[in-house]
Amino acid sequence: MVCYNQNELLRRKPAARQKKREIEVVVLDTKWVKIPAHNPDLQVLKTAGEIIQNGGLVAFPTETVYGLGGDALNPESAKKIYAAKGRPSDNPLIVHICKTEDMEKIVREVPAQAYVLAERFWPGPLTMIMKKADCVPAETTGGLDTVAVRLPDHPAALGFIREAGGFVAAPSANTSGRPSPTLGKYVYEDMNGRIEMILDSGEVGIGVESTIIDLTEDIPVILRPGHVTLEMLQEVLGEVCLDPTMLESDCQQAPKAPGMKYRHYAPRGELVIVSGDRAKVSEKIAELLEEKRGQGLKTGVIVSREEQQLYKADSIKVTGERTDMAAVARSLFRILREFDEEQIDCMYVQAFPQDGIGQAVMNRMLKAAGHKMIEV
Ligand code: AMP
Ligand code: MG
Repeated sequence: MVCYNQNELLRRKPAARQKKREIEVVVLDTKWVKIPAHNPDLQVLKTAGEIIQNGGLVAFPTETVYGLGGDALNPESAKKIYAAKGRPSDNPLIVHICKTEDMEKIVREVPAQAYVLAERFWPGPLTMIMKKADCVPAETTGGLDTVAVRLPDHPAALGFIREAGGFVAAPSANTSGRPSPTLGKYVYEDMNGRIEMILDSGEVGIGVESTIIDLTEDIPVILRPGHVTLEMLQEVLGEVCLDPTMLESDCQQAPKAPGMKYRHYAPRGELVIVSGDRAKVSEKIAELLEEKRGQGLKTGVIVSREEQQLYKADSIKVTGERTDMAAVARSLFRILREFDEEQIDCMYVQAFPQDGIGQAVMNRMLKAAGHKMIEV
């Protein structure tokens, strides 16, 4: 394991970074560097930025989840990102910028709505889809003629993007299909040997990925729910719609965000959501836990603090107070990964109300559960 704090890294001489394991498989010596979210050492950011400018990959913290960064304007970097994640190359990447006016360099014509949204929500967890400029390679956009742009609300991320040249393509820093990483150690788990560096500033604040809004339609469409909610966007833009593929499992329409057709956030065991009247939900979850334990399976449950005494399970994960949806959002992906570490076979969780951040939480939970939901 290679783990440095930022001062140790600065004292080290540059090491040979690449060893060949087999003919095609390059194993990288991944540097895992702890940095503070605020005022990180400029030299560390410069080192990370140089890696990006030389065509390498660096994972970095944002306010939503950890991103896996490469030069957005270099097609070879995009290819490396897809390879490191094991991600299908038709699933486009989000381009991260560090100042609002930079969107003009990668977007063909910035719509007026984008300036209004940037003013209100940037820096922050909102990604806008617009027509791409020619300088953005097709590899970065999964072959689409649109580009996704975001300006994150995280000082270390902004400093790193600036040092990297201003345009960092970054999907979430997990192996494709696994829960997005909310801690540096999960990035290390998935990306060690595959990328040059991990910038680790501890647990992220929000825990679910950015809201994605498509501004290329007459009426803006939310392609992925996040911390910036439908209501917040409607307040600024007026009419806004939700992509029909967002919450339904049996929608026949092809998704506009190509990533939405792929299995996501999946724990290795089976996750089931139970929805309905609160008392009946508790009863059903208790019954299912008992049944599975009787079959010799390892069980897990996700509960609020008030409900932790209600269940008997091998692993009980507490998210926070019942009404604290931000805590559920922040802890969901970590809990799914912990269930994997504990080799849990069957996991249960109650459905949450789909207002505010609850919509993003339910969207991620439904995907993690492969849309398995029991109504009681
Ligand atoms: P991730 O980086 O893992 O959060 O994934 C990025 C998400 O943004 C994926 O679901 C992509 O499909 C979506 N996305 C990125 N660029 C575009 C685009 N040009 N049009 C629609 N969706 C996009
Ligand atoms: Mg992702």
